[in-house]
Parts: sequence; structure tokens; C-alpha cells
Amino acid sequence: MRMLEYEGKVILRKHGIATTPERVVSSVEEALAAGQELGFPVVVKAQVLTGGRGKAGGVKLAKNADELRSAATAILGMVINDETCEKLLIAKACGIEKEFYAGLTIDAGAGCPVLIFSTEGGVEIEEVAKETPEKVLTMPISSLALPRRHVILEAMRKAGVSGPLLPKVTTVVQQLIEAFFATDCTTLEINPLAVTGEGDVIALDAKAVIDDSALKRRNMVQTDSVPANDLERRAQAIGVNYVTLDGEVAIIAGGAGLAMATMDMVNFQNSKAASFLDLGGGISSGNMAEALRISLATKGVRGVVINVFGGINNCLEIAKGISEVVDHDKPTAKVVVKMRGHSQDEGWALLKERNIPMVKYGTTRDAVQTLLAGL
Ligand code: GDP
Ligand code: MN
Repeated sequence: MRMLEYEGKVILRKHGIATTPERVVSSVEEALAAGQELGFPVVVKAQVLTGGRGKAGGVKLAKNADELRSAATAILGMVINDETCEKLLIAKACGIEKEFYAGLTIDAGAGCPVLIFSTEGGVEIEEVAKETPEKVLTMPISSLALPRRHVILEAMRKAGVSGPLLPKVTTVVQQLIEAFFATDCTTLEINPLAVTGEGDVIALDAKAVIDDSALKRRNMVQTDSVPANDLERRAQAIGVNYVTLDGEVAIIAGGAGLAMATMDMVNFQNSKAASFLDLGGGISSGNMAEALRISLATKGVRGVVINVFGGINNCLEIAKGISEVVDHDKPTAKVVVKMRGHSQDEGWALLKERNIPMVKYGTTRDAVQTLLAGL
């Protein structure tokens, strides 16, 4: 999950890296109050996930309240690469002597995390790497044995950092490496890592991407793909992929491929999907029940086709979830189930007790036709 600059900076500060004093605001009035509080000059920065924000006019310096008002007015609501700016970061401006780049990311080629550092920061690191590759240091990092301070210091010296800056930059890079692993990042980048007139080393920007597979254990909720409605929010809460469509057949399938094949079949039979729900693997009976309730609550639904191969999924868990909804909610929409594999006989028995139409050995076409025949 990609994070906004101010969220990335929270991670950096937590690991001891200095940032400028700053406030997150969402209106011009709040921006003006933040400017008064922080003291001018301030930098007004669009909080958007997309890159190229600086070039698009989403970063402006304001020396007084008037400039702050016009910068905030211009940037709030600005659309950068299809993304509307809803929040601003008002950051106390600082004098910049030098701009470095420091980041970690997963290098697919190397198959491991790498540290990237350059004394030529502020601009796009890809450009620096293309024009002057000798100015970009890359160093593979093992999470099992984080590099010792002297190793980082030597690398920074090689990259061209010297004098009193050398120990300071070494500390920041060491903290950045710790933050990257402690926060389950796939990218954590500071550009620019600025050196001020006083010789302080400060992160002026932050880009953090958290590994989606780690969101649950970090108690984080995906925010970079915003659900379109309450049903999509409910689906997100139980970790299934659900999209509201505008037809009459709700599709629930185990695996996005099978869900899409089912949707094709619904279309071939001259009907239309009301929703698309991919259960993924290992669904519990409770989550299966919620998935079915979400599908039944979709506007325009007249029937539900459940199409699952029990591999990682367990047909008994799925049948228990369906049974719970049928027993308690007594849905009026018709539900047809095609399911086989792991624990199929136990699952079938539960569905049979409730007279739920089943396709045991037939095809996806059979399931869709069975459903549509009764609508
Ligand atoms: P990006 O272009 O979206 O990556 O936005 P950045 O946050 O990196 O800001 C772009 C540039 O604005 C930086 O490289 C700096 O030169 C400048 N900038 C950002 N914050 C400050 C600040 O506090 N003081 C000064 N003087 N310049 C800043
Ligand atoms: Mn930047």
C-alpha cells in the first residue's frame, strides 16, 4: 500500500530521522492557521500518491500569509494524474545546501532489498542513474544481518559524503534501513534528504510503500484503493475482492479466473452480472456467510451463482456459510452452488438438507443455466 508523504514521514520520525515541523490540513483556513503556528516561510505540498507532484505545481513556497492563501487555494482540489488533492502538508521551510537521495526498495533483478544512495538528490533518481550511473550507489541488504554501522559509513564515504556530514548521513541511512524492515516496506525513500545551512540532515520528502501481505499484522487498512460503496467496504474488511456491477446475477467464485469465466458464461446466456466476488483461498464459514450476504444485498440481484473448486478452500466451510445465511436470512433470490473438491461430500450433504440447487459434476455453464432457468 502506497502512503502519502506525511504518513511516510511518521515512519521516518519513529525511527529517529529528522523532518521539518509540519501540519496536515484540508482547507485554506486550516492552512493559514498552520502557517501562523509554524512561522513563515512554509512549503505547501499536495498530499497525493502519484509521482511528479513537484513538476505538476503541487509543491509551492509561501513567504507570507497571502502567498500561503493563494498556494493552498491553487493546490487543494488540484488534479494530478487523475488524483484529486484533498490534503495539504504545510511544512516549515528550511534553507537547503545540498540534496541527497536515500532509499530502499526490493530489487527484483537482485532478488533482495537494496539500499540506493546518491549525493545527487532532489531530482528523479532514475534520471541520475541513467545519466551518471557512477553517482548512484546500490548495496544489497539482507534482513537477516543488517549492515553494521562501519559498513554503511564506508559505503557513504565511497558515495562521496565527507567531513562532519559523514557520521550524520550514516546515522540517517542506518535508521532508514531499520525503518524499512521494521515497517514491512517494499519501498522507503527520502528524496530529497536535505543538508541545511546549519549542517543538519533532514528528510524533506518521504515515499513509503507497505507490503500488502503485511497489512493485516500491522493492523492497517488498505487506503490507496478506496472502496466505491459500503458493500465494497464490507468485502474489504473480510479480505475478499468484490465489485458492484449492474446486472442481475451475483457471482461468487474461488479465484478471480473462475469468477471471470463465470461472468463470461452469464453473459453468454444473455444475462448480466450484478456483482463479482472472488473468495480467494481458505475462506472461513463466517466470511463465506458475509460474502453471500454482501452479494445478496447488491442492488438488482435476482440470483446468486457460487462456483468454487475446493483446493485451498474447503467445501464444508463454504456449505456451512451458505447454510447459515439460508437458515437465518431466508433470502428470496435463488442461490445455485457448483462446488467440488476438498470435503465436497460433507458440504453437499448440508446443502441438500436445505434443498439448495447444486451442480455436483457439471460445468460452469450448467450452473449458470440452472440459475437462469428459475429467474
Ligand atoms: P516531489 O517533487 O513531489 O518529490 O516533492 P518534494 O517534497 O521532493 O519537493 C520538491 C522540491 O521542493 C525539493 O527537492 C526541494 O528542493 C523543495 N523543497 C521541499 N521542501 C522544502 C523546504 O522545506 N525548503 C526548501 N527551501 N525547499 C523545499
Ligand atoms: Mn521528492
